[in-house]
Amino acid sequence: MSLIAAPGRRARRADTEITCDALVVGSGAGGSVAALELARAGRSVTVLEEGPRVSTRDLATAAPAESMRRLYRNGGATAILGTPTIAYGEAHAVGGTTVVNGGLLWEPSSALLDRWAVWSGYGGYRAAVIGPRFAEVRRRLGMIVQEHGDGNDDSRLLARAAESLDWRWQFPQRVVRGCRHSNQCATGCPSGAKQSMALTYLPEAEALGAHVSAGVRVERIEHHGSTVHAVEATDADGRRIRYRPRTVFLAAGPIGTPVLLRRSGIHRRTAGRRLALHLNLRSIARFPHTVDAGRGTMFTTQVHEHAALGMLVMASNLTPGGLGAALAGRNPREANRFLAVRDQVGIFTTQVRMQGSATITGQIGGTPLLRHGMTRADHHALALAFRRTARLLFAAGAVELLPPTSSVGPLCSETEVEEFCSRVRPGDWELVSVHGMASCAMARPERGGVCDDLGRPHGFTNLHVCDASVLPGAPGISPQGTIMSFAHEIVARHLETL
Ligand SMILES: Cc1cc2nc3c(=O)[nH]c(=O)nc-3n(C[C@H](O)[C@H](O)[C@H](O)COP(=O)(O)OP(=O)(O)OC[C@H]3O[C@@H](n4cnc5c(N)ncnc54)[C@H](O)[C@@H]3O)c2cc1C
Repeated sequence: MSLIAAPGRRARRADTEITCDALVVGSGAGGSVAALELARAGRSVTVLEEGPRVSTRDLATAAPAESMRRLYRNGGATAILGTPTIAYGEAHAVGGTTVVNGGLLWEPSSALLDRWAVWSGYGGYRAAVIGPRFAEVRRRLGMIVQEHGDGNDDSRLLARAAESLDWRWQFPQRVVRGCRHSNQCATGCPSGAKQSMALTYLPEAEALGAHVSAGVRVERIEHHGSTVHAVEATDADGRRIRYRPRTVFLAAGPIGTPVLLRRSGIHRRTAGRRLALHLNLRSIARFPHTVDAGRGTMFTTQVHEHAALGMLVMASNLTPGGLGAALAGRNPREANRFLAVRDQVGIFTTQVRMQGSATITGQIGGTPLLRHGMTRADHHALALAFRRTARLLFAAGAVELLPPTSSVGPLCSETEVEEFCSRVRPGDWELVSVHGMASCAMARPERGGVCDDLGRPHGFTNLHVCDASVLPGAPGISPQGTIMSFAHEIVARHLETL
């Protein structure tokens, strides 16, 4: 990397030009894989990350609200407009969203990869190729099978209920070393147990000479025809820096990547047109006895009986503050009643793969505007998912269930659940999403794809996308394992072409 004063530019503060070899934009699940693999191949690597670098010590001492503000884009409240508005969460920090995720790591099934291969027109990302890539991710991150915590009966009862209904369930696979069940994954692990990119791939890449610049926001990618020749960025002090890289790996996340492409005039019409989402429904259940849900970890028992329909039910455990926040929008008498017996209360998350998609419709002052088109089929899928969750929770012994609509009081039987489902309207659901994907899908152009099978926006030679955006669709499972496996393969293919 060499520094050159920008020729012919008026010195507007420290206007600097930097020539470099491989430039990685974004340091999350996709960007960190690129940084490490390129550094391992002997390339000189610069990583630009808009967010701050935070240590485990910082995370241990910060209050959750402070971590939300510091680690999440828009403080965790990015709105995807539509009926209903969906609250979308993603991080901006060194390590990206892996700093705040639950550490679940799943391998994409061969059936899913086959489906994607057929749809995208690219056959090179099937299980025979992606399997070994996933094995590499698993080895590097030290995946374990996470059993129930001590106490943690919300998780045990969910597993037993699944067995009583003859439904399939499993313990989650997680990337943690010595998890202390502090249940604060979503605001950053305070003990360093969770193996985020900030603790694994990135330090290893840095040890091999990669340079990670925190607080540097990429504004634009400059290109002549199909070749990128410069990347414009602004550092934390507002200084403008111009990078002149040989190759760019774009991994700014499922929203950041299409926003950058569009702002740079690259595939303006197709990038960000189809953002796939997993939706989360939250159900709060009261049991007639103590369940100690605070003794688990972010997600434990996973009921995957309806995985083919894109549904997953998980015990999501809680902290007292988290339960208070989940009850805040409800009738105060009801909220107080649940808080008074909080040891008997569990929170359960139902994940549903959305069939409609979201679109980046424009930008205001650099901030993207997002809108979704939830379909009638999605509404029915949400109702079905809630019905199945309720059946499971009543089988687990729950006596009251607060549905994912704060204006509706507790439901005490499957009959009441049926009645709720027959009346609920699309705008009533309270939905959260933390999984966005496929906004610059790897697929042939005639199928609406943005990137080719090297992750390059069609027609480009030295620009590769290697994050959640490039996946052909929503995998229906926690996506980081799939994202990282694809990123490994994209970088390997690039290195083979050199
Ligand atoms: C609360 C929560 C829990 C989750 N739990 C799980 C889980 O248990 N398992 C799982 O598999 N997945 C989970 N996920 C999702 C998973 O973490 C993400 O899908 C994954 O990290 C996305 O990877 P990525 O590389 O596409 O983007 P990210 O990891 O989000 O990284 C993108 C990075 O790019 C940076 N960036 C963006 N724009 C710019 C710019 N212009 N200039 C410079 N930098 C930029 C961002 O600041 C960010 O750091 C969870 C997500 C959340 C929010």
